[in-house]
Amino acid sequence: MARRPFVAGNWKMHGSSASNQALLAAALADGKRCAGVDVAVCVPFPYLAQAAGALQGSGTGLGAQDVSEHASGAYTGEVSSAMLADLGCTHVIVGHSERRSLHGESDALVARKFVRAMASTLKPILCVGETLAEREAGQTEAVVLRQLQAVVQTTSPERWAHAVLAYEPVWAIGTGRTASAQDAQAVHARLRAALATWGAPADAIRIVYGGSVKPGNAGELFSMPDIDGGLIGGASLVADDFSAICDAAQRTH
Ligand code: PEP
Repeated sequence: MARRPFVAGNWKMHGSSASNQALLAAALADGKRCAGVDVAVCVPFPYLAQAAGALQGSGTGLGAQDVSEHASGAYTGEVSSAMLADLGCTHVIVGHSERRSLHGESDALVARKFVRAMASTLKPILCVGETLAEREAGQTEAVVLRQLQAVVQTTSPERWAHAVLAYEPVWAIGTGRTASAQDAQAVHARLRAALATWGAPADAIRIVYGGSVKPGNAGELFSMPDIDGGLIGGASLVADDFSAICDAAQRTH
């Protein structure tokens, strides 16, 4: 099945109102230029309103980088899915490895956040991935399937068509090391097979790769049959690099 590629920038905790302007203008142009590719940028909470204004009416999606598991209430510092949707967000990253490792987010909490995003209009981008130690211990498959299953078992599988799954090996994030296209493809194929086994519309679900994707390696990664685009950290902060990665997604699909 031909899936529309999805390329999302994850700005992490970078940016300022001034520096965002050029990146947002470029992302807007990427979304227009790359017909057939879904482009989105996931910006820090304080800049969501600025980004929503800049991207309004364009095809470029807007994502947050986290969401509360709660609907509303006395949760100081938390941001709800309804608030994100109200601001114009289309997507939200859930379970990024930096949230899991630096903020102790468990598989169960990630699953609750995913469910909360699903209950709104937001499309969750669920991140799974193994650490270097887990990879070296031969546990890659077991880890990503455990992370995925924790979420799948709390949701109705047929609703997954709206979700994006991101395979992000932790050792490749921000390190300049990338999984080989073949290794990443093998994990993506395994994830897709698991989704199918669990009754999700596996052929329709975009599974994107993240981990030091750059203009120089994007084409090879995206040409793999089960790699449907990328979640892009560092390179999304360089407008020309992000544009080149969006172009690679268009060229290879
Ligand atoms: C990320 O932040 O999700 C990511 C993949 O970062 P980078 O592209 O910098 O490795």
